[in-house]
Amino acid sequence: MVHSRNETIHISFPKNEDCTLCPLLGFSVTTSLRKSKTKPNGKKPPAEEKKQYLEAEFTKVRVVDFDLKELVMLPREIDLNEWLASNTTTFFNLINLQYSTISEFCTGDTCQAMTACNTIYYWYDERGKKTKCTAPQYVDFVMSLVQKLVTDDDIFPTKYGKEFPNAFESLVKKICRYLFHVLAHLFWAHFKETVALDLQGHLNTLYAHFIVFVREFNLVDPKETCIMDDLSEILCAPAPPAPAAPSSPTSAPSPSSHNHVTER
Ligand SMILES: [Zn+2]
Repeated sequence: MVHSRNETIHISFPKNEDCTLCPLLGFSVTTSLRKSKTKPNGKKPPAEEKKQYLEAEFTKVRVVDFDLKELVMLPREIDLNEWLASNTTTFFNLINLQYSTISEFCTGDTCQAMTACNTIYYWYDERGKKTKCTAPQYVDFVMSLVQKLVTDDDIFPTKYGKEFPNAFESLVKKICRYLFHVLAHLFWAHFKETVALDLQGHLNTLYAHFIVFVREFNLVDPKETCIMDDLSEILCAPAPPAPAAPSSPTSAPSPSSHNHVTER
């Protein structure tokens, strides 16, 4: 199958001389990243941790409003790995692009650690050494690694007849986990700037599409994504059934229908 998924857009980020990513390509690597939570789950966050991105005026903003579940489902006649490869590459490009819109605000001063919802992500190098890095460094590590993976024809083959490696799915999972960290950081630390650029609709849509995709194929551990469950439940809510109210002129969901938070 001929396609152009390797025509990637790579945005340059601040330098990272210490980046030793290449050995991570080894398939035996288990995990290179862990997170440490500063407080246990379920604890009520302090008032200053108000999440602007959960406000109704922002969550209702989308670029598209159709059923994302239908969009991510494996089409008949398409090979699963091919579908995962194509989507993963697309998400990498789109998340890279979305981050680039605010990257000038994500500096070693403003984001001294890679944070999202009281979670700090540490980078672990190929020797398992924990690396303390700023958010822009972390994002650079992620994007450099993912760029290397998706353009490696041994891992993401594009030539007809070339097989995907056995470790392909685990690598896709690793990529998706890292991309989730970048998305979470965008909401947590740069939502205000995203709103100032009027790009919150793009970010919301990208996030919802990504979450629906990783859920469909179990690509990211729910323990990893739970820090953003409050937003996911709003943005990924399935399109409501046909309106019961006779006054509704169309079957399109009303903005307010997305703002309902389901209790878990
Ligand atoms: Zn940042």
